[in-house]
Amino acid sequence: MKLVVLILFSLLVAGWIFQSSLRNSGIQNQDTAKSNNMNYNKLTPEEERVIINKGTERPFTGEYDNFYEKGTYVCRRCNTPLYKSDSKFDAGCGWPSFDDAIPGAVTMIPDKDGMRTEIICNNCGAHLGHVFTGEHMTAKDTRYCVNSISLKFIKDSANVNNTEVKTDKAIFAGGCFWGVQYYFQKAKGVVSTQVGYIGGHKDNPTYKEVCSGTTGHVEAMEVTFDPSQTSYEDLAKLFFEIHDFTQTDGQGPDIGEQYLSEIFYLDDNQKATDEKLIKTLSDKGYNVATTLKKATTFWKAEEYHQEYYSKNGHEPYCHVWKKVF
Ligand SMILES: [Zn+2]
Repeated sequence: MKLVVLILFSLLVAGWIFQSSLRNSGIQNQDTAKSNNMNYNKLTPEEERVIINKGTERPFTGEYDNFYEKGTYVCRRCNTPLYKSDSKFDAGCGWPSFDDAIPGAVTMIPDKDGMRTEIICNNCGAHLGHVFTGEHMTAKDTRYCVNSISLKFIKDSANVNNTEVKTDKAIFAGGCFWGVQYYFQKAKGVVSTQVGYIGGHKDNPTYKEVCSGTTGHVEAMEVTFDPSQTSYEDLAKLFFEIHDFTQTDGQGPDIGEQYLSEIFYLDDNQKATDEKLIKTLSDKGYNVATTLKKATTFWKAEEYHQEYYSKNGHEPYCHVWKKVF
């Protein structure tokens, strides 16, 4: 399954370079930046390189590449609203991608390279990026591939209140992180989940590095929960009930140290709860293979691994829920 994702990702990068023909009816001929308006925001040299001189930021480096908060993206230069977060999707290409723009906000013009179609701000002419169609990545079949540096994000005010809920965290590793996240994101009291890597010796590891089995990391999931609605103990029980905690060499068909069953406790209370649950399971006759480790840095995985099954409408192949408590 993951190999397919990696191949898709490679195709996307190739697609950026070898852009196929555009079948978008919204193409207009318009000259570049309508400049010299005194009301525009002052740009840094790096912003000017992209926005005025039509440069491109390095992929996977932009502020909004891996960014999915609710809100509106406005033009960095003139503050005109251009894209809503609802149309943002993960194309895995290294730049923020949207499948729709706010009506009338952007204009599309043929790029000077004679192949691609450039997107500019309809108000100030700022260079935003390029638009691609025919990739079938979303139902709208359009990818506005935009430089983060051409945008400024304005958060929805409604969302600000949500961040004020007092929350707690827990980190579980139980094999392929897609399957673990699939169950936790549906659990009562869970505010958010993210998959990533923990326990190894390399900073900011990539999926490929972790898969090679040489970095010491395991695939893991960090869950943020509302303690007024659930408890660490409830979530730890769920963890034991969605994977085979007696398997010693991996999880299901996924064999290797990156798939081991481990809990990374964040404090002594969590550790005590884990020990209590493991004793309960041992008393029931299970040989518990799960190890307890003090949490180290949790490195968030690449965006295309996040909420994988929800995004793709599949069911986990490696995890099933089974009542044990
Ligand atoms: Zn603008």
